[in-house]
Amino acid sequence: MENRKTRFAPSPTGYIHLGNARTALFNRLFGQVFLLRVEDTDQERSRHEFVAALLEDLSWLQLHWEEGPHSPFPNPYFQSQRQPIYDRYYRELEQKHLAYPCFCSPEELAMSRKVQRAQGLPPRYSGKCAQLNPQEIQSKIAQGLKPTLRFRVPPGRTIEFDDLVKGPQAFETGTIGDFIIRRADGTPAFFFCNAVDDALMEVTHVLRGEDHLTNTPRQLLILEALGLPAPHYGHISLILGEDGAPLSKRNGSQSIHELREQGYLPIAIVNLLARLGHRYRNDNLMTLEQLAKEFRLANLSRSPARFDPQQLIYWQQQAVHAADDDTLWQWLPDSAHHLVPEHQKDAFLELVRSNCVFPNEALDWARILFETLVPVTDQAQEVLSQANPEFFRAAVLAAHEFPDNYQAFLKALKDRSKTKGKQLFQPLRAALTGRLDGPELSTIYTILTSEQIEHRLARWTGTPC
Ligand code: GLU
Repeated sequence: MENRKTRFAPSPTGYIHLGNARTALFNRLFGQVFLLRVEDTDQERSRHEFVAALLEDLSWLQLHWEEGPHSPFPNPYFQSQRQPIYDRYYRELEQKHLAYPCFCSPEELAMSRKVQRAQGLPPRYSGKCAQLNPQEIQSKIAQGLKPTLRFRVPPGRTIEFDDLVKGPQAFETGTIGDFIIRRADGTPAFFFCNAVDDALMEVTHVLRGEDHLTNTPRQLLILEALGLPAPHYGHISLILGEDGAPLSKRNGSQSIHELREQGYLPIAIVNLLARLGHRYRNDNLMTLEQLAKEFRLANLSRSPARFDPQQLIYWQQQAVHAADDDTLWQWLPDSAHHLVPEHQKDAFLELVRSNCVFPNEALDWARILFETLVPVTDQAQEVLSQANPEFFRAAVLAAHEFPDNYQAFLKALKDRSKTKGKQLFQPLRAALTGRLDGPELSTIYTILTSEQIEHRLARWTGTPC
């Protein structure tokens, strides 16, 4: 069986968000070996804290890499540490006359693009420096000019490849124009180091955003010129926000870091992302292993996926529901840990599992159940002030008689107060929890101590307790 090696190659210029986390996930799910490479060649925009956050976010999502930073392989996985490797390949291209130094200034290039646009032509390098002879080059360098290095695109060819997602593709080299592979400061341009590293790191399959589709013919040309193997490329469709525009901060994208702070569980995020642009037959919450087992290139969609924040909440609900005790306990805020008595831990976690979506909701319930003072919402206050104090007197007596038996308590209260339905349950819930919504009353009754129950009911009998 073919050994698939995939990779995720982020640039550490910001926190990873839903879009690039999905790219990482698809590569993790598809690859038998998954590699992480940090593309930190943009010295101005790359920052150490984003590298640290990136490693932390991926680990938190459980997207572990077999090769990459901190793995036991000697390769440097940071592009900023691979300059000598790139230099070797630059020399090779120059020796073969497949690349040439370009002395055009940014202003000159901008002007030439402007002219081309005004003529209705796509902006493309004019080829001005392509024919400089060695003397001319030497004299410009002697003047202190710092050239970029351009790849010489062969004219009159069609670059074809079979995209793993989008199918057969063809690009005419006449439309490409000689492109920069080394910046004037000597650092590599994206097209170059990205392609060279995929080859040297023996990546077999690349799944990446469709914004890179038009880069692919350039990268195939570089690899061909260097006699290096090309991976199979697959370009995944965009994620759109609810407004139909590409997902961004403005229309609902959040960083993984922010989602984590809000209390999302990693498996919820993973289940959402796995279905953004990939069809699964199964609508249940799946583990990463299950998602990987059923991941198929054929199920990747060619049309854009739409992100719906409600779906994220749905998966979070499923994830909380399915979480084991340890995970759920760790997920609770520390302040909740201090409130829950050891012998009530299991019952409380069960309550959380079926009633809470975010940790702050669980904290609210820990407060309601285990603190002495219960805050009362306005709606609950309304119900309590309309209820008859007699009702609560009957409730106190019933609770005293049946402290450990909710059904018997309820029956006694129902008979004595002659209430049922809403008239029975709303004031009872309001008195016991200070709210009108929440877990089953039987659960509340079981977790509260008999003193708490009597005390909370007595508060509304109209007589001081
Ligand atoms: N560093 C590039 C990016 O973040 C990688 C693109 C690729 O996956 O090839 O867009």
